[in-house]
Amino acid sequence: MCAALVALALAARPLMGGDVPGAGGATPHLYPPFAHAPLDGPLIVTGTFGEYRPGRFHAGMDYSTGGSVGMPVYAPVSGWMERVRASGAGYGRSLYLHAEDGRLILLGHLDAYDEPFATAIAAAQDSSGQYEQDLWFERDKFPVAAGQRLGWSGQSGGVGEPHLHLEVRRGDMAIHPLLAGASAVDTIPPVILAIAIEPRDGVSRVDGAFAPRRLALGARPETVSVTGRARVEVDANDPGTRRSNMQPYEIEMAWGGQTLACRFDSLSWATDMVEGDLVYDRGRIFGTGAHAVPLWAPAGFRPRAIVTSVPLAREAGTLDAAELRGPQRVRITARDFGGHTAVRVEAPCDRELRRRHRLGFRARRDARRSGRGGGSRSGRRCDPDRAGLAAAARAGRAARAASCARGLPAARALLAARRGLGARDGEARLVA
Ligand SMILES: [Zn+2]
Repeated sequence: MCAALVALALAARPLMGGDVPGAGGATPHLYPPFAHAPLDGPLIVTGTFGEYRPGRFHAGMDYSTGGSVGMPVYAPVSGWMERVRASGAGYGRSLYLHAEDGRLILLGHLDAYDEPFATAIAAAQDSSGQYEQDLWFERDKFPVAAGQRLGWSGQSGGVGEPHLHLEVRRGDMAIHPLLAGASAVDTIPPVILAIAIEPRDGVSRVDGAFAPRRLALGARPETVSVTGRARVEVDANDPGTRRSNMQPYEIEMAWGGQTLACRFDSLSWATDMVEGDLVYDRGRIFGTGAHAVPLWAPAGFRPRAIVTSVPLAREAGTLDAAELRGPQRVRITARDFGGHTAVRVEAPCDRELRRRHRLGFRARRDARRSGRGGGSRSGRRCDPDRAGLAAAARAGRAARAASCARGLPAARALLAARRGLGARDGEARLVA
């Protein structure tokens, strides 16, 4: 059984913010932008596409309505009303707008319908004596113009806080709304909350133990020993604009020329909704577990949310110590639709890592002996490790990474990342 040491360094760097018309900015839009916003005012997202819901994924996006009901809801595109539903559960009072280009746009949890849909529903309810209605219309029955008021937002269907659920479908596929015409405001980059390394079988070990090793994202460097095969789990969230606890659009791992991402572009209502317990950790390693995902897929099967370069016949995302020949870099990136957080994982072989640590130790020791670490000329609090940074930089790239990480208080770096302040690569760097 081969052993390898894995050291993790975390760099958080927001790439962009503000009004964002699509996920990631890098993924091409599948449809043109909506002709009209579904709500007045800034479009604040409180729930993202792909989040875990009991027995399924969240198939749309939730827009804030300021905690109240009665906000006018407009048709984002022109088309025709295909379906109007009234239900005490699920989407509550909902509208299904069929766009000219084939998109089906679902608007859910409404408080009330505007005309002519209000009359149509009321007539069906009166004649049947049933509140629950599911009306389907012919194409020419109710044409809709972009910007037309369709109803008012609410909290019908038994949801907690009032909001507007917007979903875009094509056939049985639900598409990430930000890839299908919707827009949103996003000012805060995602936050990496925790990382764990988990042995993949009964004979593999992480730091000598058979149990998953959860890494504390603190200021001090931490080295993890992997024997056999292991996989990485990442718990990250996307605050959006106001500390909402949302799932990032993508969490990606790149290693040895391979990539594996947990990314939510689209989900099939027919086949994918049962995959939530495979895609999400669900409290198995992480206690809260709401957003944690194992970056892994078994041989022969790929959930739609797992996008990888590894051939289908092979297990994807497994870090195999037997294959870690020499220094190898593994990089993890969490991305939302407005910000960017990157985690870099370096997995050098045993001997290489010891050499790096020796270099870093000597550099810091030399800095202390030369007195550069003993003063506080800049007026800052004395910090030997920070003073040792310059010496470490000259000692080589490996030593630089190790020492640099120790020079920044974790709380400050994390705060900078959360605020989206210019945390350039190398500045807001933590070591797990
Ligand atoms: Zn929703």
